[in-house]
Parts: sequence; structure tokens; C-alpha cells
Amino acid sequence: MFYFFHRDILSESLVSDKPGTVQFEVEAGAGWIEYLTSLDIPVETMTEPNGKTIKVYNRPFGVVASITPWNWPFMIAVWHIFPALKTKNCVVNKPSEYTPLSTIKLVEIINRHLPQGVCNIVLGQGEVGQALSEHAAVDKVTFTGSTRTGQSILSHSVRSLKSVVLELGGNDAGIVLEDADIERVAEKIFGSAFLNAGQTCAALKRLYVHENIYDALVKKLVEIANQQVIGDGTDAAVSFGPVQNKMQYDKVKALLQDAVAQGGTVVSTAQALPETGYFIAPTIVTNVHEGMALVDQEQFGPVLPVLKFRTIDEVLQRSNATEFGLGGSVWSQNLELAENIASQMETGTVWINSHSDLSPAAVFGGWKLSGLGYSFGLDGLLLFTHKQAVHITS
Ligand code: NDP
Repeated sequence: MFYFFHRDILSESLVSDKPGTVQFEVEAGAGWIEYLTSLDIPVETMTEPNGKTIKVYNRPFGVVASITPWNWPFMIAVWHIFPALKTKNCVVNKPSEYTPLSTIKLVEIINRHLPQGVCNIVLGQGEVGQALSEHAAVDKVTFTGSTRTGQSILSHSVRSLKSVVLELGGNDAGIVLEDADIERVAEKIFGSAFLNAGQTCAALKRLYVHENIYDALVKKLVEIANQQVIGDGTDAAVSFGPVQNKMQYDKVKALLQDAVAQGGTVVSTAQALPETGYFIAPTIVTNVHEGMALVDQEQFGPVLPVLKFRTIDEVLQRSNATEFGLGGSVWSQNLELAENIASQMETGTVWINSHSDLSPAAVFGGWKLSGLGYSFGLDGLLLFTHKQAVHITS
């Protein structure tokens, strides 16, 4: 059955020849669907010494509520809806009012292959999401978005003891060791920090660089930032689009202004921006430190603070001193040392010599205020089910 979704989604979306993140989202979404087709829902069977057989099933919940955000609206909807369907649940999605159209199209395609009422979409702002998550017929809520909204959903689940999985914000640190090959890592660091103009939950959001290579890496990052072509994201010649909405634009601008007022230095060159639209050029900021909101908060936009460190103990202490725990990365040619540092990072995912490149096969979830539960892999899929043990005595 998933084969048909996969084929239809790809063909309908790719013929329109959309560049950049749109194409990326569709292909990534199709990759996630393909991975799900390879999984079987396991049944565990055990035999007791007295001859009794016990079978442990993973049963569907019934109705899953899915609430999705405005960044990566198509891909995250795929991440919610397809595991729910794979595990034989019905699903009701509420997309963000900022970006509902691609999710409406996705649900329309899915409904060509399913009986009416299995896969549904409801539109509206936050209060619709709240009503959906509180609804008595909903047995499980899967949510991606801000920590504040995630906490609100969790608090409303207490009376009904709904199952809740929360994928929330992050403030991912990247730690670049002294032996990193600057030419090799700079493009990848830039690519993660400014992925989707920085509007990615697991983007690299604070960069810690060893003092001996700090100036050289900053210089390279600035070079890459200054090469970007800023403009309409649907234009194939453009490499850098706008921030998605005014709320986010104002927030990122305010964080930047605050950092500069406290002594931060914008080292990337100011670029000509289109006259209309929420454009912010990719911005690298130095002379920053913990205690500045730009470093401590999730900026969720195209601004990267770059901090200097001297020792590994020091950088671990500083990068872990956050309420977030989504992802982090270590950049080094010494993989053994990098793995040792990874083991001391307080995050659900650690990348070594990359950042943000998720896999459908590996669990993804945040520690601390970055989330509850996890997605992806068989473990993530089974969170769309509840266990039932059947004891069979002959
Ligand atoms: P929200 O958490 O408000 O939005 C996420 C989704 O939840 C949207 O569909 C939204 O609807 C819906 N929603 C809003 N209020 C409620 C509620 N009380 N109950 C149930 N659903 C609700 O994120 P924002 O758009 O406000 O973004 C704020 C910040 O969150 C960003 O600046 C960023 O830092 C972070 N964020 C993180 C994301 C991530 O992937 N980790 C994704 C998006 C944001 P609607 O949009 O229609 O109001």
C-alpha cells in the first residue's frame, strides 16, 4: 500500500520541478515512507516453564492526533502520518496555519488509497490544535513545535493519560576541535547552521571553535555566507530564501540587535536584500558569550554565534549548560576522541563530522526540554502502538 503513496507523492511533486528545500522535502519524505515499508510490526512469543504461551502484540491506539509546525511542513507531516498509518491507526493532522497547503495536498494523495475517515486534516490556529489534542476520542498525540506548546499539550493529557510524543526546540552546539580540516568542515557546518535559513529544529545553532583555528574557520564561514544568492526560494538560482513569517523575523532580528548591543560583532558582509519579504542574510556573529540571548536561546533563523574555547572539559561544560538537549556535533579527524566527547554530550543525537543529517532508521528525540519520547526506527514506530500481552493456557 505504501508503494502507491510513495510513487504518487514523488511523481506529483517532482514534475513541477520545484528547486531547493521543496524538492529536498519531497525526496526525504519519500525516503522515510520507503524505510517504513521495510519494517514489520513484531509479535514477541515466549513459553513459560509450565507450558503457557505468552504473545506480546503491538496494537494500534485507535486515533492519533498529529500537530505539525511551519518549518519543513511536508516532511514533518510524513514523519507523523505514515507511522500512524503503518501501525493501523486513524490519524487527524493539524498543520500550522502558516503553511497548510503542502499537508492538504499530501492528505489528498493519501486519501486516494485509503477508506474515508482513516487519514484526516483539520485546519485552524493553535486553539484547534489544543481542542484536537484534548479530544476524548484521541488516544495519542504526536507533536513537533515549540517547547511551550509541547508543555501545554502534555499538561492537558494528564486527565486522560494520553500517550504523548513531543519533538521540541533545540539549541544544538557544534564543537570544532583543533585538528579539524577547515576546508572540509566549513561547508558542512554552514550547510547545517543555515539549513532552511536556520529554521530547523536540529540545525547547528551555537558553534564552539578551538582558539587555535577560530580565526581561520570564521574567515571561511564568512566567505561561504557572502557567496549566497538571496531571494525568492522558488527561483532555482537562489540559494538562500527568507524567514517564513513575521513573528520569526522579528524574533531573529531582536536577538541579533541584542547581541550587537552587548558587544557582538557581525563579521559577514551586509548584502543587498529583496525589497519585500522577511529576508535576513546569513549572518555570522563573533565576540559572543553565554548569557547573551542569541547564544542561550533557540534563534531558529539565519544567524550563527561563534564562540572560542580552549579545553575539552571547558567546552563540554559550556555546551551542556542549556535547558535544551536535542542534538550536537563534534568535528575532528580523531574519531576515538570525538566518540569520547559524544558520550559526554547531553543530547539525544550526536553527529561526528556532520550535523542535522537524520536517518529514518535511527531514533530521534530530545533530552531535557527538547522532547519526550522519540521518533524513527522501529522503536519510534512502536510508540504509535500500545502493548497487549495475551497469555494462552491450553
Ligand atoms: P508552536 O509550537 O506554536 O506551533 C507548532 C504547532 O502547534 C502549530 O501547528 C501550531 O498552530 C500549533 N499550536 C499552537 N498552539 C497550540 C496549542 N495550545 N495546542 C496545540 N497546538 C498548538 O510554534 P511557533 O510556530 O509559535 O514557533 C515558536 C518557536 O518554536 C520558534 O521560534 C522555534 O524556536 C520553535 N519551533 C520549533 C520547531 C521544531 O521543529 N523543533 C518547529 C516550529 C517552531 P499554528 O501555527 O497554526 O498556530
